[in-house]
Amino acid sequence: MTITVVGSVAFDSITTPFGSIDRAIGGAATYFSVAASYFSPVQLVGTVGDDFGAEEMKIFEGRKIDTSGLVRIKGGKSFFWRGEYSYDMNVAHTKDTQLNVFADFKPVLPESFRKPRVLFLANIDPVLQLDVLEQCHRPELIALDTMNYWISSKKPDLEAVIRRCDLLIINEGEVRQYTGDPNLVKGGRQILELGPKTLVIKRGEYGVIMLTRDRIFAIPAYPLETVFDPTGAGDTFAGGFLGYLASTDKMSERDYRRSIIYGSVLASYNVESFSLDRLKGLTKGDIEKRYQEFRELTEFEAASE
Ligand code: AMP
Repeated sequence: MTITVVGSVAFDSITTPFGSIDRAIGGAATYFSVAASYFSPVQLVGTVGDDFGAEEMKIFEGRKIDTSGLVRIKGGKSFFWRGEYSYDMNVAHTKDTQLNVFADFKPVLPESFRKPRVLFLANIDPVLQLDVLEQCHRPELIALDTMNYWISSKKPDLEAVIRRCDLLIINEGEVRQYTGDPNLVKGGRQILELGPKTLVIKRGEYGVIMLTRDRIFAIPAYPLETVFDPTGAGDTFAGGFLGYLASTDKMSERDYRRSIIYGSVLASYNVESFSLDRLKGLTKGDIEKRYQEFRELTEFEAASE
């Protein structure tokens, strides 16, 4: 079943302890769409400049990604982000953010994009997220992501979107920043009181916690020996998670838990190389193999004595 996503499609310049790359393909919606399309069809809403040409568009080709909602602005420049990581790869240090074509973007969704089963408001200006939300007929699930940049610059707008979403996917530093509470469970509960039924907290190499009013589910990240570039891990996680969830019949509690594993599997592959280099070429076999490894990693009842 279909997912509509709005978010950044971008160029990223990234420095990690292992190397650097200039103007690679990035953007929250790019990572999300490629990851989600392994499981469900995706309809992408965003904007690029004419620097994001035919060569860059190949990232979406041959996948279940409808790009008719991606608006190209003549003479415009695409969103640009420069980030750096030191040895603590859980924290991205933003060195530059250039909104460029996103600064004046007024999304108009193609008619066929307005009835998705799942709407994902990827990390972008909350004003744009709200605008897209208002153009959709009530989806079965409205999911939202954001980042520190929007928490510090547009908190009231962000709060308006949080109040209208069912599921918030956010990282642990952002929970603390948003709520001012150092404790994730308490901070998480504060966010649930605003309206979302489910909160998924991303904790980088420590994994993921899913919090609802009466349940907590937690899993570790896949124990990789080499994390080469964490850029896009959060969006790739969200893509695998919602892509799988949207493909299930009931979106039950068990489906949510399985989806968290699929999201974690895709994110673990993504961080093995720069940009989408590893993510873009995965096979069903790669995905299932790591899913089974996750099963063994977290099994504690069935182990032999
Ligand atoms: P993450 O999954 O959190 O590592 O997201 C990384 C992606 O987010 C990069 O590819 C960036 O292009 C994109 N990004 C960074 N800052 C922003 C922002 N303020 N708004 C939207 N997208 C952003």
